[in-house]
Amino acid sequence: MQSISQFYPLLLKKSTIVITSHQKPDGDAMGSSLGLYHFLKLLGHDVTVISPTNWADFLAWMPGIETVMNYDGNKPKAQAVLDKADVIFCLDFNILHRTKNMEQPISDAKCIKVLIDHHQQPQTEAFNYGISDTNKSSTCEMVYDFIVGAGYSDSINKEIATCLYTGAMTDTGSFRFPATTGSVHRMVAHFMDLGIAHTEIHSNIYDSFLENRLRFTGFVLSSRMEVFYEYNTAIMHVYSNDLKKFEIKTGDTEGLVNIMLTMQGIRFAAIVIDRDEERKWSFRSKGDFDVNSFARAHFNGGGHFNAAGGSSYDSVDETRNKFIQLLPEYEAQLQ
Ligand code: 5GP
Ligand code: MN
Repeated sequence: MQSISQFYPLLLKKSTIVITSHQKPDGDAMGSSLGLYHFLKLLGHDVTVISPTNWADFLAWMPGIETVMNYDGNKPKAQAVLDKADVIFCLDFNILHRTKNMEQPISDAKCIKVLIDHHQQPQTEAFNYGISDTNKSSTCEMVYDFIVGAGYSDSINKEIATCLYTGAMTDTGSFRFPATTGSVHRMVAHFMDLGIAHTEIHSNIYDSFLENRLRFTGFVLSSRMEVFYEYNTAIMHVYSNDLKKFEIKTGDTEGLVNIMLTMQGIRFAAIVIDRDEERKWSFRSKGDFDVNSFARAHFNGGGHFNAAGGSSYDSVDETRNKFIQLLPEYEAQLQ
């Protein structure tokens, strides 16, 4: 993988560009994709954002989202767009299997592939150009750096800023996680000067739940949470019947795992949710417990030091038992 600055000259050549991110894109994946989309359109490129799967309703207000294609929702059409691409930008993931059914098509594509991402252990051989920096708060911050680095700081408009602000906000837990550096705040200052509606953006993302989502949260907190004080750990497990009963949709379970970290003394929180094809894990930690390594070692996953995910093909009860049985091994690290 060559450095991202080697790619800058290629911005001058009008190209057909696809931007993609990980399956079930979150605020950072969609925000960085759409921020880059608006920027590349300004430069006159033919640009399409293709999401591997559908996405949460709380992203529906984002400028440009009506143009985003869902690969799983219409494979032939999305594949035809991919086939024509000169360049594919891969944002907010670093291992091709995070794009689910797009893994093979991206791997097979003969065009230029560019990585912009902040997760650990990138599959660099899969990309021609790119940047991977685990110190960055968000992929949105990295897209901002890319635009500024290429010399187009003055091209950043309110639309681009709104998209990039969204992912920086969601990936930093509203600007409180340790990766929230002075650079992040300087970027935000630039966005504020462009007139972004920061209060509205926050509200669009975080105050958009329906009654069922709140009742579901109450239910899992009272009936599906276990606390292991000897390991400073809390865990939730959610069955597919729970999801059905409360009519839970994509995105409705986001953030649940973080609630457990608000408990005094809890340093490690995990949730497993019964999705159709797999049992999906989310891991969060505070301080020096490395959930990226934990997810890689035991649950076929990865991510960041303090936030990672993984999956299992066991039943909810089996994979939950496996997790609980692993805790004694980590007792010293969890103290
Ligand atoms: P979440 O728990 O919010 O789904 O994900 C937390 C972080 O871990 C995100 O940065 C996400 O991209 C990453 N992540 C989630 N699931 C997986 C996985 O199965 N594999 C890898 N490598 N990363 C994951
Ligand atoms: Mn991210």
